[in-house]
Amino acid sequence: MVTRVKPYAESAASYIPERPTLEKVRAASKGCKACWLWTLGTQTVFGEGPRQADVMFIGEQPGDQEDKAGRPFVGPAGKLLDRALDEAGIDRTTVYVTNAVKHFKWERTGRSTRRIHKKPNDAEIRACRPWLDAEIALVRPRVIVTLGATASQALLGKQFRVTKDRGKAIASPLAEAIFATVHPSAVLRAPDPAARGLAEKELVADLTQVARHLQAQARQSAPRGARGIATRTERRATKKTAGDRSGSREQPMAARSRRSG
Ligand code: SF4
Repeated sequence: MVTRVKPYAESAASYIPERPTLEKVRAASKGCKACWLWTLGTQTVFGEGPRQADVMFIGEQPGDQEDKAGRPFVGPAGKLLDRALDEAGIDRTTVYVTNAVKHFKWERTGRSTRRIHKKPNDAEIRACRPWLDAEIALVRPRVIVTLGATASQALLGKQFRVTKDRGKAIASPLAEAIFATVHPSAVLRAPDPAARGLAEKELVADLTQVARHLQAQARQSAPRGARGIATRTERRATKKTAGDRSGSREQPMAARSRRSG
């Protein structure tokens, strides 16, 4: 007899281990069945990156390739993100990347064998939120960057519009600042090469604001050279700023220093 799993959504909270560490939480997430998406995805795709990353990038959910690899941002969108980070002067190896939802939600259309991405609904995002909250609490990033509407609205509220407030430092109890920008997969979906080129440029511009914010915060809160990421980011962002005289966007807000006290 075939067991049918109904699309239900509870909360992953009961799966979070006591005295959590990143490794314990990652291991526990592998067995999560708090919503029905575990029946669709190949495996839980937990975040990855340094334990004390200064920046955490949050996307919507793993894609087809991430689902198979069990790692976030390793597909085409991840490669584009790598390139955009490099352009913006942010070292990819120093950032933590994760998703609002840890299982791949997909559907098939017609006779196609392709698994087509399907947007997670509010109940699924809510069910998965304890994993994301645990990652934020354990990594304690200085800056969070939300990629796309799903992650942005999960952290900044349903009214938030990426198109309106992208690339700005937004105050939040979760970090010194949250920046929102588009998801790299939206850049890949642009209708033609010109539109795609422009969308990629805008993504890099948003990430450059993140680099500048880190640069400004590093100057305020730590002796020069005290933190590897700050100095590296600082060097590269400064270099980029020098070559980008047209960059007249507003300076990031003065944010609180979470780790300097
Ligand atoms: Fe658990 Fe999140 Fe996967 Fe749902 S999507 S089963 S809440 S890990």
